[in-house]
This record gives sequence, C-alpha cells and structure tokens, in this order.
Amino acid sequence: MSAHSDSAAPSPVRLADYRPTDYLIDTVDLDFRLDATATRVVSRLRLRPNPAGRAGAPLVLDGGDLKPLRASLDNLPLDLAAVATPHRLTIANPPQRPFTLEVETELDPSSNTQLEGLYRSNGTFCTQCEAEGFRRITYYLDRPDVMAVFTTRVEAAKDEAPILLSNGNPVETGSSGPGRHYAIWHDPHPKPCYLFALVGGDLGWIEEEFTTGSGRKVKLAIYVEKGKEHRAHYAMESLIHAMRWDEFVYGREYDLDVFNIVAVSDFTMGAMENKGLNIFNDKYILAIAETATDADYAHIESVVAHEYFHNWTGNRITCRDWFQLCLKEGLTVYRDQEFSGDQRSRAVQRITDVRALRAAQFPEDAGPLAHNVRPDTYREINNFYTATVYEKGAEIIRMLRALIGHDAYHAGMALYFERFDGKAATIEDFLSCFAESSGRDLGDFAQWYAQAGTPRVKVSGAYDSEAKTYQLSLSQHIPPTPGQAEKKPLPMPIRIGLIGRDGGEIPLVQDHAQNWREEKFGVFELAGPERTIVFKNVPTPPVASVNRRFSAAVILEQQLSEDDLLLLMAHDSDPFNKWQAAQSFATRLMIRSTAAIRAGEMPAFSEKFALALADALEHYETDPAFAAQMAALPTENDLARDIGTDVDPEAIFLARKALRDGVGQLLSHRLLALYDKLQSDAPYSPDAASAGRRALRNACLDLYAAGNHADGSEIALAQFQHATNMTDKMGALSVLSRLPTPTREKALEFFYRAHCDEPLIIDKWFSLQATIPEPDTLARVKRLTKVHAFNIATPNRVYALIGAFANANPLCFNDLSGDGYQFVADLALQADGVNPQVAARLLSAFRSWRNLEARRGELAEQALRKVLDASKLSPDLRDIAQRALG
Ligand SMILES: [Zn+2]
Repeated sequence: MSAHSDSAAPSPVRLADYRPTDYLIDTVDLDFRLDATATRVVSRLRLRPNPAGRAGAPLVLDGGDLKPLRASLDNLPLDLAAVATPHRLTIANPPQRPFTLEVETELDPSSNTQLEGLYRSNGTFCTQCEAEGFRRITYYLDRPDVMAVFTTRVEAAKDEAPILLSNGNPVETGSSGPGRHYAIWHDPHPKPCYLFALVGGDLGWIEEEFTTGSGRKVKLAIYVEKGKEHRAHYAMESLIHAMRWDEFVYGREYDLDVFNIVAVSDFTMGAMENKGLNIFNDKYILAIAETATDADYAHIESVVAHEYFHNWTGNRITCRDWFQLCLKEGLTVYRDQEFSGDQRSRAVQRITDVRALRAAQFPEDAGPLAHNVRPDTYREINNFYTATVYEKGAEIIRMLRALIGHDAYHAGMALYFERFDGKAATIEDFLSCFAESSGRDLGDFAQWYAQAGTPRVKVSGAYDSEAKTYQLSLSQHIPPTPGQAEKKPLPMPIRIGLIGRDGGEIPLVQDHAQNWREEKFGVFELAGPERTIVFKNVPTPPVASVNRRFSAAVILEQQLSEDDLLLLMAHDSDPFNKWQAAQSFATRLMIRSTAAIRAGEMPAFSEKFALALADALEHYETDPAFAAQMAALPTENDLARDIGTDVDPEAIFLARKALRDGVGQLLSHRLLALYDKLQSDAPYSPDAASAGRRALRNACLDLYAAGNHADGSEIALAQFQHATNMTDKMGALSVLSRLPTPTREKALEFFYRAHCDEPLIIDKWFSLQATIPEPDTLARVKRLTKVHAFNIATPNRVYALIGAFANANPLCFNDLSGDGYQFVADLALQADGVNPQVAARLLSAFRSWRNLEARRGELAEQALRKVLDASKLSPDLRDIAQRALG
C-alpha cells in the first residue's frame, strides 16, 4: 500500500487562522470488529452546532485514506458517493440542533506500515492517533479542541485476541458468537480523538493495585509479549513512583479505576499517553539485567513517568491546537526531568538533560530547521515533534520557575489545573496563571515561545582591589533565524557564584539587594540587552561561576583562563559548572587541535587538564555517576556545534582522538587502578549509585584503551566474557568495537549469536557497528541492511542502524566522497514508501549541512536535492527536504 497520496504538498496551516469548529461532538460510540485485513468500525457521533461557530455552516469531517461502507444521519441513510471521499465527509446542510451521524468504515490493519491509525505489531492490534491518526480509523473533527466522551466496544476472535482494551474503565465483557468475544470500555473524561486507543491481542501481563492519596483503588497492568512478563517489573515500579510523586509534588491524583500500559515492538515514537491506556515502544518497558543497560533503565523510568504525567498535563488539560504542542510536551518533559532528578542524582540528571538539549536542540535552533517553541505555521505537524518543542519547551518552564520562585510556580500550576481542567488551552492561558500567582507581567517572558534561536550571553568581570568590589557584566544577543531577522531581548535567570583563589565560595553582597530571590539563591535576572552587577566585600580576585545548574538555556561566552577552569573543576560547589569547566577545557583543547591538524601541525595537549580530570574521577565516592559524566569528553558533534562554521568532521575526529589517546596514555596507571577498585561482585541492581559505579568503571576502561590498545583490548575482552549484565557487556563491546582487531569481529559475532532472538539487543549490535569510526563502516552498514534481521518497516531497527550512522558517526556520514550523504538520502527515500515519519526523522540528520566546509556542504546539498527531485515523496519528507534547503 502506498504510504501517503502523492498529491501536491499540503498548504501551510497558520496559528493566526485558528477559529473554533462549527460543530461540537458530545459523545462517540465506537464499535470495532477486529480482523487482520478487514476490520469494521462503526462510529456513532452525537453532534450539535457550536455556539461559538458559524451558524448553518457545512459539517466537514477529516478522513485519512478511508474506505466508507455506509453513513446515516439521524438514522436516515446518506448517499455515500455524494458525501464521502477517502479524505473527507461533508454534510452540506446539517440540522441546527443535536443530531447523530453514523458511519461504517473498513480498515486493513495488516498493510498499515506507516503505524498511524489502527495497525498490527507482531500480531497485536494497536493504535497510534497523535497527531492525526484517528482520521485513518473513521471520519472525525480530528483536532485537539474537540473533546468528547468515548464509549468503545471491541470484538475479536477469542484465540487471536483474548485481551481487548480501550480507554477509560471496563464496563462489560461477553461472548458474541462462536469463538468470538467482546469488551466495552467507557471513558468518562471528555478527550480529543488523538488520545483514543485500542489494543487487541494475545499478551501476557503483570498487575499491581495502587491506592491514591484519597483512597481510590486503581488496578495497574502492564501488557507485554508473552514470556516477557518478568521484564516489566521495573516499569511497574517506575509507574508507582511516578504516581506517588505527582500526588506529592503537584497534588495530582489518578482518576480512573484502571491504568493500562501495553508494550509493542513496532512504534514510530517513544510512547503515547492515551487516556488510561498508554501504548509504548517496548524498548521503554522491557528490562532485566541480562538484556538492558543502566541507560535503558533510566530511560524506562523517565518515559513511563512522562506518559503518566500527561494524564494531567496533556489529557485533562489538552492543547487548543497543534501549535500549542509545547503546552503539554514542554511542561511534561520538565515534570519528568524533575521526577528523575528526585529519583537519582539531581546534578547528573541536569547534566544529562543539558547534554541532550545541546546535542539535539541547539543544532536545530542554529540551522535551517529552526522554529519557535510555538510555531506560527506548519505544513506537516508530525515534523514538529522536535527537540525545540520538547526540550527547549521544558527549559522555558524551568526558567519561568527560577524567575518567579518555587511558591509562585506551584500556586500558578494549581491555578492552571483548577481553571483549565477539561479544557483545551493555549500558552496564553497557561502563562496567565503564573502572571496571577506571581503578580508579574509575563509579556516579555512569552517571547521565549515566539522567537527561535539560542541566545548568546556574554560575560565579563572586573575586580577593583582597592574598593574590594567585583563588577560582572552580562549582555545578550540572539542570532537571526529563518524568517526572523530581528530579535527582542529575553528575560532569563542567571544563577551566579563567586569562587576565591582558595577554592572557597565568596558570599554575594550587593549595595541594594534587588529582591529576595537574588539574595537567597544567587539568581539574577537579565531582562534587557545588558546588565551590570557589583558585588561588595570581595577580598581577592574571584572566578565567576555563571549560569549555575544551566539556569538559562543559552550559550555562554565567558573568557576564563586555563587556571580559572582548573579552579572551577576542582572547587566549584555547583556540580553542573564543575562538569562544565572540564567540558570547556577539553573543548578548547580540541578546537585548538582541530585547527592545528588542518594546518598540518601537531594537536594540542595539556597535562594539567589530564591530571585534574584524574583527580575528579578519583573523588567519585559522593556521586560516582557524576564522576562518570566528568570522564565523558565532549562528542564530535559537540565540537562541530561549537566551531559553528567551516566544519571539518575529519579534523574534529582526529583532534578528539588525540586528546583521548593522550589522556589514556598519561593516566594509564590511575585509570587502571580505578577500574580495578570499582570492580564489584554484588548482584546487579539498577539503582543510581550502582549504575554510577558501572558507568565510571566503563569510562575508565574506555579512556585506558584509547591510550593502550593491546592491553585495553585484552581487558575489554575479559570483561565482555565475564559480564553478568548488559551494561558491562555493552561497555566492553563498545571499547572492542573501536579497536580494529580480529577480536572485535569475533566478539561481535559471538554477541549476535548469543542474542539473535532479542530484537532490542540486536538493535544495540546494529548501532555499535554503525558508529565505528573507520573507512569501511559504510560498507559494513550497507551489508547490514541486507541481513535478515534488518527490516525497513521496523522503526527501532532503522533508527538503530541508519539513524546511528547518520547522527552518531560524523566521520563516516560526512566522508569526503559524499557516499555517506547519498546512502542516508537513499535510505530516507526507501523508508518514505513505508513510514514517512521515520523517513523524515532520518533526513533531519542533514540539519547542520550549511555549517560544513565547502566541499562537504556541496555534497550534502546534492543529496538533499536528490531527495527533493524524487518522483514520489510524502508531505513529511518533502517538508524536511524543502526546509533544510530553504
Ligand atoms: Zn509527551
């Protein structure tokens, strides 16, 4: 089946054109008779004219490639040919009173490879409706501000689908003829159709009972492929923690009798928050020590919490239109980040989140795909599920909270829940609650949603030894982005500390403390283009530790000497800036090396830096996961982003390699001693402290092996052979994969044979090989696309192999032959015929092509043009290609 009709690109949708619907839907009764290739759906909509709409307007329902069988209005049959096309159902003169529209459609879930609407994953019927998948099930006003009460009857063959689930509470089950049965579900909470879900299949499950703070008993269940039930316990634990946390921190209780999660293996995104029935990519549910890494566990904890938190921020209060996507996503990402910070180390969580923001969102903001957190216009909404909407959206909430303070933040949230419960809201609605709770005009702050681009904040300091004062000057500048040449200054919270030469914290004393926040927490607001702050009673010239905890989502430009950075690395009481100092030092060295290598000179190295790094690693006791973060040098992508223009990925790769090799050689003994000391015989536990020790130990091995290939390879092989958990096994295999020895191929082969029945582990095997930084890798990846285990219709597999090659192997993707670009462009075209969203995501790897040095830039552009010239293109892929070239 073709993925999308190949009609002309859809015309852009504009925020400014929003108007309410002319009709409202009060209730929806759905009746599904599941069948692998001919599922029948009867939809009965109770409609009425919207008082806020245009009286007497025609009723136009959305459809997506639908096959209608019959339709009736108030039980009078309609002439299908006159009212319905696959993409629309139009009633020219609907009654101007409540009326009932009934439509029957037929679907083929088995041939639905784009995984929107109703489809089958490993024989299980499941749905994905966000953003516009519901119209692929039946005709509907498919937009988030139409909220209705859904009742769903699902009928199927008993042996094929003993489990039948939908949103809300179970009402009734029974037999419906020989070998068939049905279940009826009713969701009392009005919701938009993007939150509709249905599952039918032969699944195993685990269950628990949860009692809410007010005493409501909730049955929790997680459904998985049969035989994998024992891998769902960590997800269940995470769910229970998340439910407690939301009660404790936000006062939000769960509101139905059951909460169901279903894990499926074919899923384009991470997971979906359908009311009472979350559907997950199984990589965010399944984990035991032998199959999942510590990072997998951490992801499971955060994604399970994220989808659960949507019950209030997303479901009870939803978005008025898709431009407001950040209203639910930015807020919910912020909530899940805070949850994970409370479960683990707050410092490490912050570092992890900022790493992700810089890796995914900063390049987006600096390239042709840059867009506002709340876009003004879109052609394909699926392409706006971006790092900008999610991660930058979360940073905006964090900044809001820092600016108005904890109490006003929570008072504002309480107001938001009270005032907009059961409604479809906007960013303005949301901000109005905080304006009220804080008594502050948030008009300037709202610009964070309306301006693309990452602000740059310049910092300079001057010490007056006579007056014993230190003057800190801050100024901001936002570079132009596509369609936005002029930018207004943004209000931002900058958290500041001063460190003395002895490493001690200098108390912040000002002439006129401007408000309680600044006195108490060291948070200063930069509201206009610039600001100068004078600190008194500063005994010696300090080093300013600026933007602690990454309080503002900006790029900081601060001239610190190497000695300043070493001081911060050793003494900053703010762990984020301690880590940042190490990153900045390493970045500076590697950027210098990159230039040297391009000029045919020797790369730079600093013994002082390496020794300071070793000191930091050896002081791991209080937070080993933090020490592991210190050990992880900036990535090649980090360096490319910091260099910004005329980027030469090969020189960057060599510069980074030189630093790693140098550190590994110089610190051989200390790294090895630490590696041995961190060895543990305790049984595996995924808790943060144990995971931190494993992360640090594997980081030591990785650096050691970089400087000592032969010995490193032997140690890694021994670890690989004896590892009792996937974290250590993958840690060792990852080290081996970077050493071109026969051992590597044997270990990869062995790993494959040991785990070939485990798709989630085989994904790791694909990714590891796709990221080997060697000239042969493209040939290897091409070979891997031909093996039986590779399937272009499985999103996880495509991301694991092609996505990893394009995004995490900059050396090979950007090879001077241009073959890497051509390969990824071809694969995107191939994927487009199967799943356009997957294709569009693959092509986003080109988002920074304009920053490349001239030759590579040309080759990347050619590859993009080739995509655009293809004869058949989905709107998703066309949109990305056009904007990337735009
Ligand atoms: Zn979400």
